[in-house]
Amino acid sequence: MNKSKTIGILGGGQLAKMLCDSAKKMGYTSVILDPSSDACGKFSSNLHLIKDYTDEKSLKEISEISGVVTYEFENVPIESIEIIKKIGGNIPQGKTPLYLSQHRIREKNAVRNLGVKTAKYKQVSNIEELKEALKEVGIPAILKTCSGGYDGKGQWKIKNESDLNNIKLESREYILEEMVNFEKEVSCLVVRGINGEVVNFPIGENIHKNGILNLTIVPAQISKELEEKIIENSKKIVEKLGVVGPLGIEFFIAGEEIYFNEMAPRPHNSAHYTMDACNYSQFDIHLMAVLGEKIPEIKLLKNVVMLNILGEDKEKLKKIQKSKKGIVHIYGKNSWKIGRKMGHVNFCGNDIDELIELAKSF
Ligand code: AMP
Repeated sequence: MNKSKTIGILGGGQLAKMLCDSAKKMGYTSVILDPSSDACGKFSSNLHLIKDYTDEKSLKEISEISGVVTYEFENVPIESIEIIKKIGGNIPQGKTPLYLSQHRIREKNAVRNLGVKTAKYKQVSNIEELKEALKEVGIPAILKTCSGGYDGKGQWKIKNESDLNNIKLESREYILEEMVNFEKEVSCLVVRGINGEVVNFPIGENIHKNGILNLTIVPAQISKELEEKIIENSKKIVEKLGVVGPLGIEFFIAGEEIYFNEMAPRPHNSAHYTMDACNYSQFDIHLMAVLGEKIPEIKLLKNVVMLNILGEDKEKLKKIQKSKKGIVHIYGKNSWKIGRKMGHVNFCGNDIDELIELAKSF
């Protein structure tokens, strides 16, 4: 493998797979590090190191093989980045975006300090603190683990005081958040290059089912003013926090207000639509950013609705494939488990209402 033409990726899931596909398209080879021998990234990477993320020998190997190393999930141990830096590997994103996004309080404090609005929140670690915090945050509220939660896991809604009886706190940190009565959930994928230039992809409007992303509608059906406000705030976040690489940022919209919810320094599920509806995909731009290439302007070429395919959607997928409508991407994971992200479909066209109806019709 030619070092200057090789990209190393920490993590080997579907995001790694799609990064490897982009790398290949751009003339690069790729190596992934993932402890699971089943990691679906292996179907597109040139080499799969099956070792723990903190295994020094493998981190050395990936750093030596690759001209640049990046990551595809937000829970890569900070220690892995420190080891790569120590042995002279090139990991331009560094640890800051991971450090912030791995802890909901750190993340919200950082963003709130930039003047971006968030729901009221308070850190709690036991039931007494939770009761006290509820007085400040108010009911209804939502309790989340500060770290390790995803797709709505590790969350409890508190709609009245009796809901407290169903909550058993472990000895870890939690965040209690005011429940925002939002009309829409949206996300914006912004990317900052190593030379400081920033681009954004069009905002996606997200619809969830059982806490998991179901549909992303692009363009989001929101006012021009809200669109500008979301892009301005998203760019401010990457610039002021000095993020390099991609950052997927989620917001709630309530009336004319936008509330930051969370962010992830990696390609984002809600931006998979970019693979078929934009001049460049989020994976292409992620790679260009960490490689230090000039980042082109992003254009939406057609309207699009992205539909996630989960483990329970085998029959739905068959119907979509038979209809020959939509561009299907399947990740190649071996077991179709309920709630597991197995693939996605992009329905592209002109009339956004028709595309929404089509995506919901299967
Ligand atoms: P999260 O893991 O923070 O993205 O939360 C998962 C989902 O829970 C979000 O997509 C929202 O639908 C809902 N949610 C999270 N936080 C809040 C909040 N503060 N107010 C209202 N709904 C929320």
